[in-house]
Amino acid sequence: MQLDNDVFSSCGNCNNKMKIANDNFECETDSYERNMGSEISYSFYSTIECPECFNEIDLKINDEPLPLVSIGENKLN
Ligand SMILES: [Zn+2]
Repeated sequence: MQLDNDVFSSCGNCNNKMKIANDNFECETDSYERNMGSEISYSFYSTIECPECFNEIDLKINDEPLPLVSIGENKLN
């Protein structure tokens, strides 16, 4: 399981915008028992270092309810 797209984030320290490739994320799965059956949710984690100020940034993305949350920048079509 892997994210479909690269993720955009911005540094909380210097506001630098950066792109994190989707294969930098580690996937974690949780399963729940629900009335309708079991349900699996995916979370993605990554720790990156800002290239401008070397601030360490922890990213966490939940695959629910939206498939992907991009932080700080809209994807251009
Ligand atoms: Zn920074």
